[in-house]
Amino acid sequence: MYYNRHMNELACLNLLASQMDLESAEDKTTAVRSRLINNADVFIHPAVMPNGKRIKLLKTLLTSACERDCYYCPFRAGRDTRRATFSPEEFAKLFITLYERRIVEGLFISSGMIGGGIRTQDKLIDTIDILRYKYQYQGYVHLKIMPGSEKAQIERAMQVSDRVSINLEAPNAKRLLELAPHKNFKEELIKSLIWIDEIRRNSDPDKFWSGHFPSSATQFVVGAVNDTDVELLTTTNYLYKDLNLKRVYYSAFKPAHNTPLENKPATNPIREFRLYQASFLLRNYPFNLSDLVYDNNGNLPLNIDPKLAWANKNLLKCPIEINQATIQELMKVPGIGSSGAEKILKYRYTHKLKDISIIQKLGLNQERITPFILIDGKRPVFQINMMF
Ligand code: SF4
Repeated sequence: MYYNRHMNELACLNLLASQMDLESAEDKTTAVRSRLINNADVFIHPAVMPNGKRIKLLKTLLTSACERDCYYCPFRAGRDTRRATFSPEEFAKLFITLYERRIVEGLFISSGMIGGGIRTQDKLIDTIDILRYKYQYQGYVHLKIMPGSEKAQIERAMQVSDRVSINLEAPNAKRLLELAPHKNFKEELIKSLIWIDEIRRNSDPDKFWSGHFPSSATQFVVGAVNDTDVELLTTTNYLYKDLNLKRVYYSAFKPAHNTPLENKPATNPIREFRLYQASFLLRNYPFNLSDLVYDNNGNLPLNIDPKLAWANKNLLKCPIEINQATIQELMKVPGIGSSGAEKILKYRYTHKLKDISIIQKLGLNQERITPFILIDGKRPVFQINMMF
């Protein structure tokens, strides 16, 4: 688990409760509620659901104590920091109170590891079981899978959640060794994502609380060690295409004080942004790994959108014929996404595109598209619309 920019927020509720030395969940709820109201942006994060609805998501840890010592993590074992823990019942009661008072609308819960991954996973599952079956909570849950969890636990976690995730942190075993030497890339992390995919393919969706399989996700720490974008995107491509992950998240490294990586420089956030752009090309567009353009170090250039970099290399000299291009060819042109490509195809059913002004009339960006297309064998000239 890499908490990076949200690391303090994730633990805030736990720490808050311990700092206040409160005994009962009711006392904690009252105290937390007033802090939430006054600092809503710190504790609660807006999240967009698959149906487009925005909800207020509470992100937290069941415990901020941990026996592992991942080099980047502020909660690593032995670091001098205050820890706090909720029991499953205590946390479920606190959450449901906040939910009923409409302070939060969904939950993202993770945990530090105490007593191994299996024991910690049991506590997380118990928490959601209590929410679902004792308090009849029907809302959104994103539940973390702990490294080393058993397959049966993962299946149970999936049955009560809307999303499950396990953070790979690094793109391969070699890089993970530099980041978190006590985690096993193959046995503890990748295996869990393979099991999630297997469970989805071999189970009956009726066994899952909503009648649907939960989506799956992971996250990488970017730039803390010598990971390259080629490595990160190669693993991303495998996760999207072979294991059906819904989202791969990238988190630009920020050093935490009093950790082995505290003197490493923070990663430029533009690198994180370019990785997202490239990963969307792999996930949503007809791009392959070999299409992406890298610098000599195996990283995406920071100064150019990866789609534009591909088009500059491939389409400037050989533009596509807009009246004959397939949907896949159209979607590789900067300025044309899936809906833009469909608009062009629909127009072509009844008309021929005779000049570049049609592109604008279809609601597409004429300036971005013009350098990469031909209209009936001729390069169009970008026309600036004069407004009088
Ligand atoms: S296992 Fe522990 S040390 Fe490693 S990232 Fe998670 S909380 Fe931090």
